[in-house]
Amino acid sequence: MVNMKNILIYISIVLLLLAGIILGVNKNKKTIPKEDNTIISKMKKINYYNKMYKDRYLKYYNENKNLSLEDIITRVNLNLDKDYYTNTIKTPYQNKDYILVNKYIYMDSSYIPENLVNLDQSYSRSGMKLVKSAKNALEKMINTAREDGYTIRVMSSYRSYNYQLDLYNRYKNADGEEKADTYSARPGFSEHQTGLCIDVDDAEVNYTDFEKSTSFTWMQENAYKYGFILRYPEDKTNITGYTYESWHYRYVGKKIAKYIKKHNITFDEYYVRFIENKM
Ligand SMILES: [Zn+2]
Repeated sequence: MVNMKNILIYISIVLLLLAGIILGVNKNKKTIPKEDNTIISKMKKINYYNKMYKDRYLKYYNENKNLSLEDIITRVNLNLDKDYYTNTIKTPYQNKDYILVNKYIYMDSSYIPENLVNLDQSYSRSGMKLVKSAKNALEKMINTAREDGYTIRVMSSYRSYNYQLDLYNRYKNADGEEKADTYSARPGFSEHQTGLCIDVDDAEVNYTDFEKSTSFTWMQENAYKYGFILRYPEDKTNITGYTYESWHYRYVGKKIAKYIKKHNITFDEYYVRFIENKM
């Protein structure tokens, strides 16, 4: 015979447990306003949502309601809600065309890219180097530009950690750290250490005036076809953390360059959406 008293005890225990769970859930819910929960559940559908950053997303959302949820998540993932050079991490990738280096992601002082090769002196000064994939693409681009009547020259390419250290210290001593940080990368944080980027000029203008040259217009229309992007555009300084540099181009490969050009985004944004935690 089944003992009726025992069954009643079991049912009571189950009911008490259920009540406890429901009360517990409600208690948690009280700490987050209903609107925030709706926002978070929408954010969770975006595939680069990171549950560790939930509170930061909400705070950034409340401060930037004009931005899309994709932009909120992208910018928090990039650490843009934190001061430059805080929350920094070492790049998890080495010797890849898709390494991201910015004011939150750095390379070790010992990092020297593999496959560094010399650039031809017909378009650069002696001793300049780039990673081979970037150099090959650069030469194709420069040769086509030349056929079209434009003379693009390389003024700076790979820079070692120590070179950047000297450069940054010189700027810092002259202008102070705050000012130097607006135009020069700290050692380890310079994209030039990747061996994947170049500063260019046109034989007729100084590199800082590159945007005034017809070569610049040519680059705007064609660089992506060779895998290069304008890395620090004028209207993206709040995302890249760098003032506009019309002369600084980064090799990311044709596929990524084409996407960035088509969607008018930065490499930083591309990285969060398609590379970070996915490669
Ligand atoms: Zn540069």
